[in-house]
Amino acid sequence: MRIKIIRLTILALLQSFVVTIFCQDINNLKLKDYRPVSIYKIPQTKIEKAKFPVLDFHSHDYPKNDQEVDQWVKTMDETGIAKTMILTYSTGASFDSVVTKYSRYKDRFDIWCGFDYTGADKPGWAQKAVAELERCYKKGAKGVGELGDKGLGELYSKPTPGYGIHIDDPRMKPLIEKCGDLDLPISIHVAEDAWMYEKPDSTNDGLMNAAKWNVDLTKKGILGHDELIRTLENAVKVNPKTNFIACHFANTCADLNVLGKLFDTYPNLYADIGARYAEISPIPRFVHAFMEKYSGKLLYGTDMGTENKMYKVTFRILESADEHFYEHDMFGYHWPLYGLALTDETLKKIYNENGKKLMKH
Ligand SMILES: [Zn+2]
Repeated sequence: MRIKIIRLTILALLQSFVVTIFCQDINNLKLKDYRPVSIYKIPQTKIEKAKFPVLDFHSHDYPKNDQEVDQWVKTMDETGIAKTMILTYSTGASFDSVVTKYSRYKDRFDIWCGFDYTGADKPGWAQKAVAELERCYKKGAKGVGELGDKGLGELYSKPTPGYGIHIDDPRMKPLIEKCGDLDLPISIHVAEDAWMYEKPDSTNDGLMNAAKWNVDLTKKGILGHDELIRTLENAVKVNPKTNFIACHFANTCADLNVLGKLFDTYPNLYADIGARYAEISPIPRFVHAFMEKYSGKLLYGTDMGTENKMYKVTFRILESADEHFYEHDMFGYHWPLYGLALTDETLKKIYNENGKKLMKH
């Protein structure tokens, strides 16, 4: 009997040793560590280069030196990116330094400036800000952005954020009108997607990103999602001669009809599709129909660095009809992705035709 017990104990120990070494403890597996590999034997499309030349309307000043700029241009050549818009958020010396940094590749990069909110609480600010905008324009600015308001005002601008100032603030009017006069489109990020406003708990559909980007609506004076969309709509409505680009589908991926209605109403409103590939990909048939319908209003964008692979994943999502594939390293979500199989006409418009029209290239 005693020998049998010892034998069983050794066996149990051995089993737990084997489990620890060779298997995962799935009862304690965290959602962030869930890395399924698709098991389906179905077509997988390898896309090395975009089907048509691409203008990327949402990128930033990522490279740290000339060599990294060179490397980026090489990657752009390999993947079919004809030109990248660098949204600097900046004015003054920091804007000028970005212009200088990319001056060796004038035909490959357009540099966009910000608004200068320094002294925005003092009388006469608007005239100064307009003068700085004109200075940036003469230096080569091709647009303004990325402005950004997640509820507390224009927080993205460098060197001075415009806290408490929303895009429909009457103080903004002279700046926005000047953009219209100078043909500078305004790229603006308002709000976050719906997941970030839901409780970050076990019922949240997009928990991984919802937890990371959760919006705290208890902050004093903060505007909610719909109020922020309204600030954008107000500005677009009263400035019909200025073109606006709402970043990331205006953060309405969970209800694209909201953006559709705005598109139906305002000819001067566009949207970029940057950094929302994982949000639109789980509902490919709905998004296909939306993007085909509003193909004249959407602009390709990335906002996800400069890696060769990043571009290819965006092309696979836009161009292919692939199903149930994962890109865990690129997107935080736990769900699989699907290709949107956009038509050539729509791809051409989103990749370059809309952008060319907008930039009067
Ligand atoms: Zn951005």
